Amino acid sequence: MTSSLENTLLDAIRNIPDYPKPGIMFRDITTLLGNAAAFRQTIDELVRPYATSGVAKIAGIEARGFILGGAIAHQLSAGFVPIRKKGKLPHETVRVAYSLEYGLDEMEMHKDAVEQGDKVLLVDDLIATGGTAEGAVKLLRQMGADIVAACFVIDLPELGGREKLEALGVPVRTLVAFQGH
Ligand code: AMP
Repeated sequence: MTSSLENTLLDAIRNIPDYPKPGIMFRDITTLLGNAAAFRQTIDELVRPYATSGVAKIAGIEARGFILGGAIAHQLSAGFVPIRKKGKLPHETVRVAYSLEYGLDEMEMHKDAVEQGDKVLLVDDLIATGGTAEGAVKLLRQMGADIVAACFVIDLPELGGREKLEALGVPVRTLVAFQGH
């Protein structure tokens, strides 16, 4: 059975075929972010299990993870940590290579962004293969973070990202799933 939030999300997320390349169905959350009621419901549902969990920091993955993560951090009275593509952060960083569909890229976070033992919630808009989130998990753990969970609005279950993160011992929470890529 589909929940009312799932229906709201299915209506609010825009699907753009063949973007950024042929064969990809791009799940565009700008329409969700622009819908005040749907945006609030999404954030409320993402934070619900963590209200009393003592999360110290929300780590958001560039760029859509910044928008969701900022709202979640505010609601949980937690700090926010940006995880960015290489070369964008001004202070000392730690860096990790991560796999994309074709090839590798690198992401960074500031060395002093989390403290040993900090409870951290990782946030992005969508999990596909899980390569991006896996890179973020490695960075956060390198700096001693205790990753409570990884949260995404959208799951593309056929691409196996959830299993990849769960194999690393990271619980995964998603709000709606779409078939295909
Ligand atoms: P992955 O590393 O394969 O899990 O890919 C996840 C990252 O790529 C997230 O930051 C998503 O925003 C983006 N992404 C991957 N596939 C899509 C898609 N079909 N629609 C929108 N964003 C996507």
